[in-house]
Amino acid sequence: MNQLLAFVSFSFFVVFQLLGQAEHRNFQTKYIYILVIDGPRYSETYGEPTCKYSPLLCDSLKKEGTFYAHFSNNGATYTVPGHTAMVTGTYQRISNAGTALPKQPNFFQYYLKASGKDSTAAYVVASKGKLDVLVNTSHKQWSNQFVASTYCGPNGNGLGYGRDDKTFAKVTELVSDVNPPQLMLINLLAVDVYGHANNWDKYLESITKSDQYAAKLWQMIQENPVLRDQTTLMITNDHGRHLDGVRSGFVNHGCRCEGCRHISLLVLGPDTPKGKEVTEPAELIDIAPTIAEIFHFEMPTSKGKFLRGAFSQNDK
Ligand SMILES: [Zn+2]
Ligand SMILES: [Zn+2]
Repeated sequence: MNQLLAFVSFSFFVVFQLLGQAEHRNFQTKYIYILVIDGPRYSETYGEPTCKYSPLLCDSLKKEGTFYAHFSNNGATYTVPGHTAMVTGTYQRISNAGTALPKQPNFFQYYLKASGKDSTAAYVVASKGKLDVLVNTSHKQWSNQFVASTYCGPNGNGLGYGRDDKTFAKVTELVSDVNPPQLMLINLLAVDVYGHANNWDKYLESITKSDQYAAKLWQMIQENPVLRDQTTLMITNDHGRHLDGVRSGFVNHGCRCEGCRHISLLVLGPDTPKGKEVTEPAELIDIAPTIAEIFHFEMPTSKGKFLRGAFSQNDK
């Protein structure tokens, strides 16, 4: 009996040692970029049987990384709330018009504080001007501190909606710099805008265009001597759109239907298994604690879980 007890406790000891090592692992990743394709429905991206609208993401890019087949926005399925969940690691009620700041601090702030780097090390580059609220917070201890750089909207000034090609040009400029941002979130709006315009053909075309931007970004990273083999790219969405038969279908979003909540996540990078599919559910609020884990800073205000599956050969 004593021997058995000794063996059991030794086994626990070994397991905890291994877990401990996993927690404090050093990652090759030194740069993390998040590409948010705003508002495609899963049924027109990875869920389309032949994947014809996202041929690159579904094939060559997917083979390069770890894909989450059950990734969700479990909060409000709108643009500002979806992005807020991503950067703060919490779901919260927040205006979708960009008229209020997130209640909790974001990973850019935690990162800038912990690293001591200046504000150009962290960037939000967005076609939607209102997304400049993502870098600040109404939280008393964090308000107006460690605020990341932004280029949001047509003139980079947080007003209006800009074109994705202009946004991508800014991304290209930043990525090509001798000091590229360490942490960057990018938002591309065309899919969402053409969905709202009830333009099915342009909506699909924009999904394909975003597919090309995603591949182009990954290619630029691979060709860049600073970023290559040191950069993790996460490609995701803020929300989906209503299923056919739910309210106005693909034209809108914002409810808790499967179409609005089921989004996607593909992770590519030096620490990420290739060609792996994770079937365990994961969600938008898991992105922030994952960044905290990789960059070794604490983010006590976030509620999500580390996306272990994308950073280990075995775990789901
Ligand atoms: Zn929308
Ligand atoms: Zn819906």
